[in-house]
Amino acid sequence: MIYLDHAATTRPESAVIEAMIPFLSENYMNPSAFYQPAVRTRMQVESARRNIAGFINAPYDSIIFTSGGTESDNWAIRMGAKICEDKGRHIITTKIEHPAVLNTVRYMEEQGYEVTYLDVDATGRIDLESLKSAIRQDTVLISIMHANNEIGTIQPIKEIGKIAHEQGILFHTDAVQTFGHLKIDVDEFGIDLLSASAHKLYGPKGIGLLYIRDRKKFAKLLFGGSQELGLRPGTENVADIMGFAKAVEIADKIMDSDIEAQNALRDELKSSILKEIPGAVINENEDNHLPGTLNVTFEGVSAETILIRLDMNGICASAGSACSAGALEPSHVLTAIGKSTDEASRTIRFSIGRENTKDDIVKTVKVLKTLFA
Ligand code: PLP
Repeated sequence: MIYLDHAATTRPESAVIEAMIPFLSENYMNPSAFYQPAVRTRMQVESARRNIAGFINAPYDSIIFTSGGTESDNWAIRMGAKICEDKGRHIITTKIEHPAVLNTVRYMEEQGYEVTYLDVDATGRIDLESLKSAIRQDTVLISIMHANNEIGTIQPIKEIGKIAHEQGILFHTDAVQTFGHLKIDVDEFGIDLLSASAHKLYGPKGIGLLYIRDRKKFAKLLFGGSQELGLRPGTENVADIMGFAKAVEIADKIMDSDIEAQNALRDELKSSILKEIPGAVINENEDNHLPGTLNVTFEGVSAETILIRLDMNGICASAGSACSAGALEPSHVLTAIGKSTDEASRTIRFSIGRENTKDDIVKTVKVLKTLFA
Protein backbone atom coordinates (compact mmCIF):
# COMPACT_ATOMS: atom_id res chain seq x y z
CA MET A 1 0.00 0.00 0.00
CA ILE A 2 1.09 3.55 -0.72
CA TYR A 3 -0.63 5.82 1.76
CA LEU A 4 -0.96 9.41 0.53
CA ASP A 5 -3.79 10.54 2.79
CA HIS A 6 -1.95 11.83 5.85
CA ALA A 7 -4.19 14.90 6.09
CA ALA A 8 -7.05 12.49 6.87
CA THR A 9 -5.13 10.57 9.50
CA THR A 10 -1.69 9.13 10.17
CA ARG A 11 -0.44 5.73 11.24
CA PRO A 12 0.41 5.77 14.96
CA GLU A 13 4.17 5.41 15.49
CA SER A 14 5.18 2.13 17.17
CA ALA A 15 6.73 4.16 20.01
CA VAL A 16 3.33 5.80 20.49
CA ILE A 17 1.60 2.43 20.80
CA GLU A 18 4.30 1.19 23.16
CA ALA A 19 3.83 4.27 25.33
CA MET A 20 0.09 3.56 25.52
CA ILE A 21 0.04 -0.17 26.26
CA PRO A 22 0.98 -0.04 29.98
CA PHE A 23 -1.94 2.32 30.56
CA LEU A 24 -4.34 -0.11 28.92
CA SER A 25 -3.08 -2.94 31.10
CA GLU A 26 -1.21 -2.86 34.43
CA ASN A 27 -1.35 0.93 34.88
CA TYR A 28 -5.11 1.10 34.60
CA MET A 29 -5.72 3.09 37.80
CA ASN A 30 -7.91 6.15 37.86
CA PRO A 31 -5.53 9.11 38.17
CA SER A 32 -7.87 10.77 40.65
CA ALA A 33 -7.54 7.90 43.15
CA PHE A 34 -5.50 8.14 46.35
CA TYR A 35 -3.19 5.08 46.36
CA GLN A 36 0.39 5.15 45.11
CA PRO A 37 -0.04 3.55 41.65
CA ALA A 38 -2.86 5.99 40.86
CA VAL A 39 -0.81 8.93 42.10
CA ARG A 40 2.00 7.81 39.80
CA THR A 41 -0.45 7.72 36.88
CA ARG A 42 -1.62 11.24 37.79
CA MET A 43 1.99 12.42 37.74
CA GLN A 44 2.49 10.86 34.31
CA VAL A 45 -0.66 12.52 32.93
CA GLU A 46 0.48 15.88 34.24
CA SER A 47 3.97 15.40 32.90
CA ALA A 48 2.45 14.61 29.47
CA ARG A 49 0.43 17.83 29.72
CA ARG A 50 3.56 19.79 30.64
CA ASN A 51 5.54 18.43 27.70
CA ILE A 52 2.76 19.08 25.22
CA ALA A 53 2.32 22.62 26.57
CA GLY A 54 6.05 23.29 26.23
CA PHE A 55 5.90 22.22 22.60
CA ILE A 56 3.80 25.32 21.75
CA ASN A 57 5.38 27.55 24.42
CA ALA A 58 2.24 27.46 26.56
CA PRO A 59 1.96 27.24 30.34
CA TYR A 60 1.18 23.76 31.57
CA ASP A 61 -2.27 24.61 32.97
CA SER A 62 -3.51 26.10 29.68
CA ILE A 63 -3.81 22.68 27.99
CA ILE A 64 -7.12 20.83 28.31
CA PHE A 65 -7.36 17.37 26.77
CA THR A 66 -10.43 16.80 24.60
CA SER A 67 -11.65 14.05 22.28
CA GLY A 68 -10.07 15.72 19.24
CA GLY A 69 -10.20 18.63 16.83
CA THR A 70 -13.97 18.67 16.41
CA GLU A 71 -14.65 18.97 20.12
CA SER A 72 -11.96 21.61 20.58
CA ASP A 73 -13.32 23.72 17.71
CA ASN A 74 -16.90 23.47 19.04
CA TRP A 75 -15.82 24.41 22.52
CA ALA A 76 -13.52 27.26 21.52
CA ILE A 77 -16.19 28.95 19.43
CA ARG A 78 -19.24 28.34 21.60
CA MET A 79 -17.62 29.22 24.90
CA GLY A 80 -15.18 31.78 23.50
CA ALA A 81 -18.09 33.80 22.15
CA LYS A 82 -20.18 33.25 25.25
CA ILE A 83 -17.66 34.69 27.70
CA CYS A 84 -17.57 37.91 25.64
CA GLU A 85 -21.35 38.20 25.26
CA ASP A 86 -21.39 41.53 27.09
CA LYS A 87 -19.30 43.06 24.33
CA GLY A 88 -21.34 41.77 21.39
CA ARG A 89 -22.36 38.89 19.18
CA HIS A 90 -20.24 39.10 16.04
CA ILE A 91 -17.81 36.38 14.91
CA ILE A 92 -15.33 36.45 12.03
CA THR A 93 -14.19 33.30 10.27
CA THR A 94 -13.34 32.24 6.70
CA LYS A 95 -15.17 30.40 3.95
CA ILE A 96 -12.63 27.58 3.95
CA GLU A 97 -12.74 26.38 7.55
CA HIS A 98 -13.24 22.72 8.43
CA PRO A 99 -16.91 21.73 9.03
CA ALA A 100 -16.10 21.52 12.76
CA VAL A 101 -15.77 25.32 12.68
CA LEU A 102 -18.26 26.16 9.91
CA ASN A 103 -21.10 24.14 11.40
CA THR A 104 -20.41 25.55 14.85
CA VAL A 105 -20.58 29.16 13.66
CA ARG A 106 -23.78 28.29 11.76
CA TYR A 107 -25.19 27.06 15.05
CA MET A 108 -24.10 30.36 16.63
CA GLU A 109 -26.05 32.20 13.91
CA GLU A 110 -29.13 30.27 14.98
CA GLN A 111 -28.42 31.51 18.52
CA GLY A 112 -28.54 35.12 17.35
CA TYR A 113 -24.86 35.72 16.51
CA GLU A 114 -23.80 37.41 13.28
CA VAL A 115 -20.96 35.78 11.38
CA THR A 116 -18.69 37.28 8.70
CA TYR A 117 -17.19 34.65 6.39
CA LEU A 118 -14.00 36.09 4.89
CA ASP A 119 -13.21 35.32 1.26
CA VAL A 120 -9.86 33.84 0.29
CA ASP A 121 -7.85 34.43 -2.87
CA ALA A 122 -7.19 31.83 -5.58
CA THR A 123 -4.38 30.41 -3.43
CA GLY A 124 -6.55 30.12 -0.30
CA ARG A 125 -5.10 33.05 1.70
CA ILE A 126 -7.22 35.65 3.46
CA ASP A 127 -6.59 39.34 2.92
CA LEU A 128 -5.54 41.11 6.11
CA GLU A 129 -7.14 44.40 5.03
CA SER A 130 -10.46 42.58 4.58
CA LEU A 131 -10.07 41.14 8.05
CA LYS A 132 -9.47 44.62 9.47
CA SER A 133 -12.53 46.02 7.68
CA ALA A 134 -14.70 43.15 8.90
CA ILE A 135 -13.97 43.99 12.56
CA ARG A 136 -16.83 45.80 14.32
CA GLN A 137 -17.45 47.22 17.77
CA ASP A 138 -19.33 44.04 18.66
CA THR A 139 -16.78 41.52 17.24
CA VAL A 140 -15.94 39.06 20.00
CA LEU A 141 -14.14 36.21 18.26
CA ILE A 142 -11.95 35.60 15.21
CA SER A 143 -11.65 31.92 14.24
CA ILE A 144 -9.22 31.30 11.39
CA MET A 145 -7.49 28.01 10.69
CA HIS A 146 -3.70 27.79 10.70
CA ALA A 147 -3.55 25.67 7.54
CA ASN A 148 -6.26 24.29 5.32
CA ASN A 149 -6.89 20.55 5.26
CA GLU A 150 -7.72 20.35 1.53
CA ILE A 151 -5.27 22.68 -0.21
CA GLY A 152 -2.68 23.03 2.55
CA THR A 153 -2.51 26.83 2.46
CA ILE A 154 -1.07 28.40 5.61
CA GLN A 155 -2.68 31.63 6.83
CA PRO A 156 -0.70 34.68 8.07
CA ILE A 157 -1.40 33.61 11.62
CA LYS A 158 0.96 35.98 13.40
CA GLU A 159 -0.49 39.02 11.65
CA ILE A 160 -4.05 37.83 12.40
CA GLY A 161 -3.15 37.41 16.07
CA LYS A 162 -1.70 40.93 16.15
CA ILE A 163 -4.81 42.46 14.59
CA ALA A 164 -7.10 40.55 16.97
CA HIS A 165 -5.12 41.60 20.03
CA GLU A 166 -4.90 45.25 18.99
CA GLN A 167 -8.70 45.23 18.96
CA GLY A 168 -9.09 43.18 22.14
CA ILE A 169 -10.75 40.31 20.25
CA LEU A 170 -10.26 36.63 21.14
CA PHE A 171 -8.35 34.71 18.47
CA HIS A 172 -9.01 31.01 17.95
CA THR A 173 -7.08 28.95 15.44
CA ASP A 174 -7.82 25.44 14.26
CA ALA A 175 -4.28 24.08 14.13
CA VAL A 176 -5.30 20.46 13.52
CA GLN A 177 -3.28 20.29 10.30
CA THR A 178 -0.20 22.09 11.64
CA PHE A 179 0.25 20.96 15.24
CA GLY A 180 3.23 18.62 15.19
CA HIS A 181 4.09 19.59 11.62
CA LEU A 182 5.07 23.24 11.88
CA LYS A 183 6.51 25.32 14.67
CA ILE A 184 3.81 26.99 16.76
CA ASP A 185 4.42 29.51 19.53
CA VAL A 186 1.12 30.66 21.02
CA ASP A 187 2.71 33.82 22.45
CA GLU A 188 4.60 34.80 19.35
CA PHE A 189 1.50 34.16 17.20
CA GLY A 190 -0.94 35.90 19.59
CA ILE A 191 -3.22 32.86 19.82
CA ASP A 192 -5.83 32.77 22.61
CA LEU A 193 -7.45 29.43 21.76
CA LEU A 194 -5.94 26.61 19.71
CA SER A 195 -7.38 23.27 18.61
CA ALA A 196 -5.20 20.22 17.89
CA SER A 197 -5.73 16.51 17.33
CA ALA A 198 -3.28 13.67 18.00
CA HIS A 199 -4.22 11.44 15.08
CA LYS A 200 -2.82 13.94 12.57
CA LEU A 201 0.66 13.66 14.06
CA TYR A 202 1.10 9.88 14.26
CA GLY A 203 -0.76 9.66 17.56
CA PRO A 204 -3.99 7.90 18.55
CA LYS A 205 -7.49 8.87 17.40
CA GLY A 206 -10.04 10.36 19.78
CA ILE A 207 -7.65 12.60 21.72
CA GLY A 208 -6.86 16.25 21.15
CA LEU A 209 -6.50 19.44 23.06
CA LEU A 210 -7.73 22.94 23.45
CA TYR A 211 -5.15 25.52 24.47
CA ILE A 212 -6.85 28.24 26.50
CA ARG A 213 -4.77 31.36 27.21
CA ASP A 214 -6.96 32.62 30.03
CA ARG A 215 -8.72 29.66 31.56
CA LYS A 216 -9.96 31.59 34.59
CA LYS A 217 -12.30 33.51 32.33
CA PHE A 218 -13.29 30.47 30.26
CA ALA A 219 -16.60 28.63 30.37
CA LYS A 220 -16.88 24.92 31.21
CA LEU A 221 -17.65 22.48 28.43
CA LEU A 222 -19.23 19.89 30.71
CA PHE A 223 -20.34 19.68 34.32
CA GLY A 224 -18.94 17.00 36.57
CA GLY A 225 -15.85 16.43 38.70
CA SER A 226 -12.64 18.40 38.85
CA GLN A 227 -10.66 16.74 36.04
CA GLU A 228 -9.08 18.93 33.39
CA LEU A 229 -9.11 21.84 35.82
CA GLY A 230 -12.86 21.44 36.19
CA LEU A 231 -13.42 22.70 32.64
CA ARG A 232 -13.87 19.32 30.94
CA PRO A 233 -14.56 16.78 33.66
CA GLY A 234 -14.61 13.01 33.26
CA THR A 235 -12.01 10.32 33.98
CA GLU A 236 -8.99 11.02 31.81
CA ASN A 237 -8.29 9.01 28.66
CA VAL A 238 -4.90 8.13 30.12
CA ALA A 239 -3.55 5.80 27.42
CA ASP A 240 -4.41 8.24 24.63
CA ILE A 241 -2.89 11.14 26.55
CA MET A 242 0.35 9.14 26.85
CA GLY A 243 0.24 8.34 23.12
CA PHE A 244 -0.38 11.99 22.29
CA ALA A 245 2.59 13.07 24.44
CA LYS A 246 4.86 10.51 22.76
CA ALA A 247 3.74 11.67 19.30
CA VAL A 248 4.56 15.25 20.30
CA GLU A 249 7.96 14.21 21.67
CA ILE A 250 8.80 12.55 18.36
CA ALA A 251 7.48 15.47 16.30
CA ASP A 252 9.56 17.87 18.36
CA LYS A 253 12.72 15.89 17.66
CA ILE A 254 12.29 15.36 13.94
CA MET A 255 10.12 18.24 12.77
CA ASP A 256 12.84 19.90 10.70
CA SER A 257 13.83 16.72 8.89
CA ASP A 258 10.14 15.81 8.39
CA ILE A 259 9.50 19.19 6.79
CA GLU A 260 12.51 18.89 4.54
CA ALA A 261 11.74 15.33 3.44
CA GLN A 262 8.05 15.97 2.80
CA ASN A 263 8.70 19.19 0.92
CA ALA A 264 11.15 17.31 -1.30
CA LEU A 265 8.63 14.54 -2.04
CA ARG A 266 5.88 17.10 -2.62
CA ASP A 267 8.13 18.97 -5.08
CA GLU A 268 8.86 15.69 -6.83
CA LEU A 269 5.15 14.80 -7.07
CA LYS A 270 4.25 18.28 -8.25
CA SER A 271 6.89 18.50 -10.95
CA SER A 272 6.26 14.96 -12.21
CA ILE A 273 2.50 15.58 -12.43
CA LEU A 274 3.03 18.86 -14.27
CA LYS A 275 5.51 17.19 -16.63
CA GLU A 276 3.65 13.92 -17.25
CA ILE A 277 -0.06 14.76 -17.01
CA PRO A 278 -1.34 17.24 -19.57
CA GLY A 279 -3.67 19.93 -18.24
CA ALA A 280 -3.03 19.28 -14.53
CA VAL A 281 -3.28 22.38 -12.34
CA ILE A 282 -1.84 22.68 -8.82
CA ASN A 283 -4.05 24.47 -6.27
CA GLU A 284 -1.67 26.00 -3.77
CA ASN A 285 -0.02 29.01 -2.27
CA GLU A 286 3.51 28.44 -3.44
CA ASP A 287 5.17 30.22 -0.52
CA ASN A 288 2.83 29.17 2.28
CA HIS A 289 1.82 25.54 2.15
CA LEU A 290 1.94 22.47 4.35
CA PRO A 291 5.05 20.40 3.60
CA GLY A 292 3.12 17.31 2.52
CA THR A 293 -0.16 18.45 0.97
CA LEU A 294 -0.60 18.70 -2.79
CA ASN A 295 -4.01 19.48 -4.31
CA VAL A 296 -4.36 18.89 -8.04
CA THR A 297 -7.15 19.52 -10.55
CA PHE A 298 -6.86 17.08 -13.44
CA GLU A 299 -8.18 17.53 -16.96
CA GLY A 300 -10.98 15.39 -18.37
CA VAL A 301 -11.09 12.57 -15.80
CA SER A 302 -13.29 12.57 -12.68
CA ALA A 303 -11.82 12.37 -9.20
CA GLU A 304 -13.86 9.21 -8.65
CA THR A 305 -12.23 7.48 -11.62
CA ILE A 306 -8.78 8.61 -10.51
CA LEU A 307 -9.32 7.43 -6.93
CA ILE A 308 -10.59 4.04 -8.10
CA ARG A 309 -7.60 3.58 -10.39
CA LEU A 310 -5.23 4.58 -7.57
CA ASP A 311 -7.04 2.30 -5.13
CA MET A 312 -6.84 -0.64 -7.54
CA ASN A 313 -3.09 -0.11 -7.43
CA GLY A 314 -2.95 0.09 -3.65
CA ILE A 315 -2.63 3.88 -3.50
CA CYS A 316 -4.74 5.85 -1.00
CA ALA A 317 -5.57 9.50 -1.71
CA SER A 318 -8.65 11.71 -1.32
CA ALA A 319 -11.01 13.68 -3.52
CA GLY A 320 -11.45 17.40 -3.11
CA SER A 321 -15.17 16.80 -2.82
CA ALA A 322 -17.24 15.41 -0.02
CA CYS A 323 -19.87 12.84 -0.80
CA SER A 324 -23.10 13.78 0.92
CA ALA A 325 -26.45 12.04 0.65
CA GLY A 326 -25.29 10.12 -2.40
CA ALA A 327 -24.53 13.31 -4.36
CA LEU A 328 -21.05 14.60 -4.99
CA GLU A 329 -21.10 18.14 -3.58
CA PRO A 330 -18.29 20.42 -4.69
CA SER A 331 -15.86 21.14 -1.88
CA HIS A 332 -16.55 24.51 -0.22
CA VAL A 333 -12.80 25.10 -0.15
CA LEU A 334 -12.38 24.60 -3.89
CA THR A 335 -15.45 26.74 -4.58
CA ALA A 336 -14.01 29.49 -2.37
CA ILE A 337 -10.73 29.55 -4.34
CA GLY A 338 -12.74 29.97 -7.54
CA LYS A 339 -12.99 26.42 -8.89
CA SER A 340 -16.15 25.50 -10.81
CA THR A 341 -18.21 22.48 -9.75
CA ASP A 342 -16.77 20.66 -12.73
CA GLU A 343 -13.18 21.48 -11.78
CA ALA A 344 -13.84 20.52 -8.17
CA SER A 345 -15.12 17.15 -9.36
CA ARG A 346 -11.73 16.52 -10.99
CA THR A 347 -9.62 17.43 -8.00
CA ILE A 348 -7.51 15.14 -5.83
CA ARG A 349 -5.65 15.76 -2.58
CA PHE A 350 -2.39 13.88 -2.06
CA SER A 351 -0.98 14.21 1.43
CA ILE A 352 2.51 12.91 1.97
CA GLY A 353 3.75 11.74 5.36
CA ARG A 354 6.71 10.53 7.35
CA GLU A 355 6.88 7.01 5.91
CA ASN A 356 6.60 7.92 2.20
CA THR A 357 9.54 7.45 -0.14
CA LYS A 358 10.56 8.69 -3.57
CA ASP A 359 9.53 5.31 -4.92
CA ASP A 360 5.95 5.93 -3.71
CA ILE A 361 5.85 9.13 -5.73
CA VAL A 362 7.28 7.49 -8.84
CA LYS A 363 4.72 4.64 -8.65
CA THR A 364 1.84 7.06 -8.07
CA VAL A 365 2.70 9.16 -11.10
CA LYS A 366 3.11 5.99 -13.16
CA VAL A 367 -0.44 4.91 -12.25
CA LEU A 368 -1.81 8.41 -12.90
CA LYS A 369 -0.22 8.40 -16.33
CA THR A 370 -2.24 5.32 -17.34
CA LEU A 371 -5.41 7.42 -17.05
CA PHE A 372 -4.17 10.23 -19.25
CA ALA A 373 -2.37 8.27 -21.95
N1 PLP B 1 -10.02 20.70 11.72
C1 PLP B 1 -9.28 20.35 10.67
C2 PLP B 1 -8.56 21.39 9.87
C3 PLP B 1 -9.18 19.00 10.29
O1 PLP B 1 -8.44 18.65 9.24
C4 PLP B 1 -9.88 18.03 11.07
C5 PLP B 1 -9.85 16.60 10.69
O2 PLP B 1 -9.75 16.25 9.55
C6 PLP B 1 -10.63 18.47 12.18
C7 PLP B 1 -10.67 19.81 12.47
C8 PLP B 1 -11.35 17.49 13.05
O3 PLP B 1 -10.46 16.81 13.88
P1 PLP B 1 -10.86 15.43 14.60
O4 PLP B 1 -10.85 14.40 13.54
O5 PLP B 1 -9.80 15.22 15.62
O6 PLP B 1 -12.19 15.65 15.23
